[in-house]
Amino acid sequence: MSSKDQEFAVDSDGLHRAVELMSRDFSRAKRLDLPTELPLCGMGSTAALNALAPSILGGAARLGEATSFAHMDPPTPWITWAMTLWNASLNQNLLHPATSPVARQMEERVVTWLAPFFGMDGGHMTPGSTVANLTALWAARESAGVTEVVASAGAHLSIAKAAHLLGLKYLSLPIDANGSMDAAQLPTDLRKSALVLTAGATSTGAIDPLDLAGRAAWTHVDAAWAGPLRMSKYAHLLAGIESANSVAVSAHKWLFQPKESALVLFKDTEKAHAAVSFGGAYLATPNVGVLGSHGAAATALLATLLAWGREGVAQRIEHCMDLAHRLRDFVAADERLELYAEPQTGIVVWHPKDENLFDQALRQLPVGSTSTTSMAGVKWFRNVAANPGADIDLLIATIRGVLP
Ligand SMILES: *Cc1c(COP(=O)(O)O)cnc(C)c1O
Repeated sequence: MSSKDQEFAVDSDGLHRAVELMSRDFSRAKRLDLPTELPLCGMGSTAALNALAPSILGGAARLGEATSFAHMDPPTPWITWAMTLWNASLNQNLLHPATSPVARQMEERVVTWLAPFFGMDGGHMTPGSTVANLTALWAARESAGVTEVVASAGAHLSIAKAAHLLGLKYLSLPIDANGSMDAAQLPTDLRKSALVLTAGATSTGAIDPLDLAGRAAWTHVDAAWAGPLRMSKYAHLLAGIESANSVAVSAHKWLFQPKESALVLFKDTEKAHAAVSFGGAYLATPNVGVLGSHGAAATALLATLLAWGREGVAQRIEHCMDLAHRLRDFVAADERLELYAEPQTGIVVWHPKDENLFDQALRQLPVGSTSTTSMAGVKWFRNVAANPGADIDLLIATIRGVLP
């Protein structure tokens, strides 16, 4: 091996090739037969790039496609691809200031920009709201002494998971006909409880009554999906969130970030961070939160916010909301179809009134256009407006086409 290993240098040809392959059509290309065992001899980086392109590029779910409207996973803007490339090459570790002199500041800045939309004073990034929820409930256990988590039946599974990991009791409250927490079922004594309110339930997009925030020893709002509405003209839908002690938001959902990108935000960050910090002799600063080594997802988010501004974010989310409302209007107007409830946060849940049509319709709808969920044993279709590039007329025409 030469004194300077070129595998660690910028290979412009290789990287240009990678970009060029992105616009190729691999839909009919033969996928790589991966060796069942780790090869002894490598094929070389350019050969590996070419060999993997048909599988990775050709086989991926296309989240920005015209009919992509099924899941909470958005397409990502190219500025984030560039940042991700830089991140991979620089490999900063935010665990230690010495290995991330600038990246840590970027994360602090992005948190400073976003926390006020939720009435929070700071926080940190996590790889998803699963970890954000866990971190928030950990802080609740340490600093508010909670012994129980109370959430609705529509809460994300990560809430029950966090309660389990933290050794907290878990109380699941029924939901009302719209999918929101039924506030009438709330226990009166919440002095030892962390109340989790969901802003944008995963199945239905329903928002729990956020005016309940502040009733418990700790209130956490899981705004993984709908949190970014705070930056739009729909901010009022999440009114009350500012009374929470903590908030989770997944930037890799409605802030159009590559995974893994999310935030856990706190009302009193100094206190919350102190409650979830550990020191270490080799660390210059305490390790805050669940993660050890972690990367600079913040730079992609910061770049997006810098590129688009609040206006650009709002515009895209509002456009997604329009798309959902168009689909809602179609379903409401078609006698063969039934809406689960009025969509609250860009998630449309519906089904054919004739339940026998469900499976057949599902088979005929384009892959990635519609997901499914079930409530009280009833099957529903679910469309999530995470793709600003969706062609809603095409989707509506397609749905019409699969109905007898
Ligand atoms: C997606 C989601 C989560 C989990 O977030 P990840 O970013 O996937 O870890 C938690 N809560 C709600 C309401 C969600 O929609």
